[in-house]
Amino acid sequence: NHVIHLKRRPKGKPQLEDFEFVEEQKPKPKDGEILLKTKYVSVDPYLRGRMRDQESYIPPFELNEPIESGIIAEVVASNNDHFKEGDFINGMLKWKEFQISMGNGLNKVDPDKVSLSAYLGILGLTGLTAYISLDKIGNLKEGETLLVSGASGAVGSTVGQIGKIKGCHVVGIAGTDEKLKLMKEKFGFDKGINYKTTDDMKKAIGDACPNGVDVYFDNVGGEILDAAMDNINKNGRVINCGAISLYNETDVPTGPRYEGIMVRKTVLMQGFLVRDHATEFGPATKQLEQWLNVGKLTYEETIVEGFKNIPQAFLNLFEGKNKGKMVVKI
Ligand code: NDP
Repeated sequence: NHVIHLKRRPKGKPQLEDFEFVEEQKPKPKDGEILLKTKYVSVDPYLRGRMRDQESYIPPFELNEPIESGIIAEVVASNNDHFKEGDFINGMLKWKEFQISMGNGLNKVDPDKVSLSAYLGILGLTGLTAYISLDKIGNLKEGETLLVSGASGAVGSTVGQIGKIKGCHVVGIAGTDEKLKLMKEKFGFDKGINYKTTDDMKKAIGDACPNGVDVYFDNVGGEILDAAMDNINKNGRVINCGAISLYNETDVPTGPRYEGIMVRKTVLMQGFLVRDHATEFGPATKQLEQWLNVGKLTYEETIVEGFKNIPQAFLNLFEGKNKGKMVVKI
């Protein structure tokens, strides 16, 4: 039974050498326990934060212990009345091929409704992040302009589509022209900006958003946030969902100061953590499912195959190698 440990805390960009593959005996379920076989593993940018030895909203990973993330697994043996062999579950589980659980915190998922991997993306935490944060903070109104960074990723591609459902002018920022094409053709974005080939982001955003930016959905932070703030409208809203451009920085970078703009334009800027909104997951998932069923919402996945490739798939997030949700299929 293969297991992946965090071997050392990454300095700057994570490396393959920060992870270690360990073998352990395949466990046997005791009374009340189930044996789970890992099927799909979610790799997510926020896991980088848990690799630091630093208090946060979620405890750091221990060295020489398994890493954990969102996982879809199959129940392959059960001594627990709530689960039977052949059930599929979604939960926060360890990077192990097989593991034991008492079933706490696991939710059954239905493989006949959507593909199992979708429960890690559009019907999982990234879809919920997009929907709930726009609902709570974005307050989108028809005809407004929504700007989103990390726009071809799991959260960003859902944000843009919800913007279109709400009747907004939607502009996305991403790192390749192929991604811009996907955003327009598959997700219905109005405009895209490639931040890697654009020198003047302030101007590019201004050109793509002729009426200014009413809502900026920030997945990346740093200089792209600065350029968005230069284009924000009166009563604009900024949703701080993530700051991937800073996750591998060792020092806190400094930038322009926007207090003046915030006051003059009465901007609302608010951080968001999806884990604080568990009570809304039920209704939010219903809405996302309904939009999926009627074709108002779609999704993209980058599926990497093989347990041994989990660390590389995680590293690839920081190189922008994914379109839509990055998932590892075991
Ligand atoms: P994505 O699917 O968006 O994957 C990450 C993407 O980030 C890459 O594909 C890459 O695309 C982009 N990226 C990588 N490095 C940089 C950089 N230096 N500057 C700009 N863009 C970069 O991941 P998710 O959808 O899972 O997550 C998106 C964001 O949302 C992350 O910041 C994450 O931490 C956050 N998040 C927050 C949650 C919350 O509750 N607050 C919950 C879930 C996610 P490109 O080619 O465009 O560079």
